[in-house]
Amino acid sequence: MRLFVFKWEGEIKDRHMKKQKVIFVVGGVMSGVGKGVTTASIAKLIQDRGYVVTALKIDPYINVDAGTMNPTEHGEVFVLDDGDETDQDMGNYERYLDVDLSRINYMTTGRVYQSVIERERNLEYKGKCVEVVPHIPLEIIGRIDAAIAHASADVAVVEIGGTVGEYQNILFLEAARMMRRCPDTDVAFVLVSYLPVPDKIGEMKTKPTQTAARILNSTGIQADFVVARAERALDQKRKEKIAMFCDVAEEDVISAPDVDSIYAVPEMFEQQGFTDRMLAHLGLKQGVRTQRAAQWDEMVTRLRAAQASGIRPKIGIAGKYFATGDYVLTDSYISVIEAIKHAGTAHGVNPEIVWLDSEVYETDAARMHEELSALDGLIVPGGFGSRGIEGKIAAITHCREHKLPFLGICYGMQMLVTEFARSVAGLEDAHTTEINPDTPHPVVDILPEQKEKLAHKEYGGSMRLGAYPARVVAGSMTQELYGGADEISERHRHRYEVNPAYVQRLTDAGLVFGATSPDGTLMEVAELSRDVHPYFIGAQFHPEFRSRPLRPHPLFSGLVAAAYVHSTQ
Ligand code: GLN
Repeated sequence: MRLFVFKWEGEIKDRHMKKQKVIFVVGGVMSGVGKGVTTASIAKLIQDRGYVVTALKIDPYINVDAGTMNPTEHGEVFVLDDGDETDQDMGNYERYLDVDLSRINYMTTGRVYQSVIERERNLEYKGKCVEVVPHIPLEIIGRIDAAIAHASADVAVVEIGGTVGEYQNILFLEAARMMRRCPDTDVAFVLVSYLPVPDKIGEMKTKPTQTAARILNSTGIQADFVVARAERALDQKRKEKIAMFCDVAEEDVISAPDVDSIYAVPEMFEQQGFTDRMLAHLGLKQGVRTQRAAQWDEMVTRLRAAQASGIRPKIGIAGKYFATGDYVLTDSYISVIEAIKHAGTAHGVNPEIVWLDSEVYETDAARMHEELSALDGLIVPGGFGSRGIEGKIAAITHCREHKLPFLGICYGMQMLVTEFARSVAGLEDAHTTEINPDTPHPVVDILPEQKEKLAHKEYGGSMRLGAYPARVVAGSMTQELYGGADEISERHRHRYEVNPAYVQRLTDAGLVFGATSPDGTLMEVAELSRDVHPYFIGAQFHPEFRSRPLRPHPLFSGLVAAAYVHSTQ
């Protein structure tokens, strides 16, 4: 029986080529317990056995993509090669699987409804009454099929956002339930649940997990595996309880206590036989562990050695998307943090990340100098808007003058250029027109083709997004960092650019543009030569999206190396 044929980018994918294997990961009790890392780890463990694996994230939001969401609300916006603005979990999947995912791997409620409505307008339902059920779940299934076909995957791991019991993800669970009924698909359900250990009680409680499993049952789904997230390991008694009340085999209750590194989670699952059980459940051969699996294990060993080394160069991040209510949330910079860790592991050091609020630097220069003097390196990451901007520029001046290693990312690069224009090139009041449209020296300005879109209030997807090639300038520090490469490809997410009208004046004043767009018009990297400063560089792109645990990004690697040297001086 052909259930549904999904058209994506003009191709019709036939879902009946071979039997599909789909693992759904759903959350119980509460969010934020590591469902994304669990999903990525399961995907990686199956890949480790020689299978082609893809991973999908489903977000319940109406937003068509994550690009229009404030990072303090939603966390980082992770940009894919094809320019899709997605959820930070997509970053986890790419890091664990070391693959480049595409927009078909990400869906939101908004995206799903949008295509159903478009289809209806195009008469694709041939006069039928188009209904929430089954047409929305069928669209979801079609997208999962298309992602599998696109990656030629043996197995897909699908993370359903939110937690069971909420209204928002119910249609995604319905799609998952329907998929189990497809004769050409083998499905597994993993419930990632949280087990609290309340202080006053001093005992791990399983009841919320039992309740979550039952709520899942009420959607027609029975969990096959329960991943028990908790601060501590699960004891035998609680394992038995979960097995009994959630109706899963005891071996399929997986203990998932907090570990020293998220990259050690696959190892923890493997040791409990999770991969073996999952493969058996899906009717797949056990396979032989790949070479990459062994390299990953070595990386985890190096990471532990780096942590044990006690060598901790201090790297500051001056951002603004931290505060939510009374709490500090660093989710907005997750890929930056991971990229620092990847570089640290490669260099055998364990960088300490220090969160800095650049806004206070605007009124308290003494505090700024004190805080920055304690650092071995500074990152000004991507951002938008005026808050804290003069503080960031002042911090960059400090880095330049005190030879403190500096990496500017996107907005950080634009601020590097602005700082250099003002302080070195003598362009008083130079600025980006994002902040000061009337600046006498618009050293950073909007792309002409984007002006049109903004005039029509087309904000969603109106940026330069995704991977673009760049030409590396011979003899630059950029070329040294990229191991002599002439051309690179990096992911972007910005509206503004270094203004070509100022490039000559900035170059004359000593700023080096280490990489440009292939036609030479867009400045991709700005740097100071090593004779002037040990490490002072900014990238218009986002290097953090391309950093992988086994392949740290050259710009982060360069920063961590320079920060380490600084820490020994
Ligand atoms: N606000 C800047 C721009 O739009 C930088 C964006 C970013 O840092 N991602 O160009």
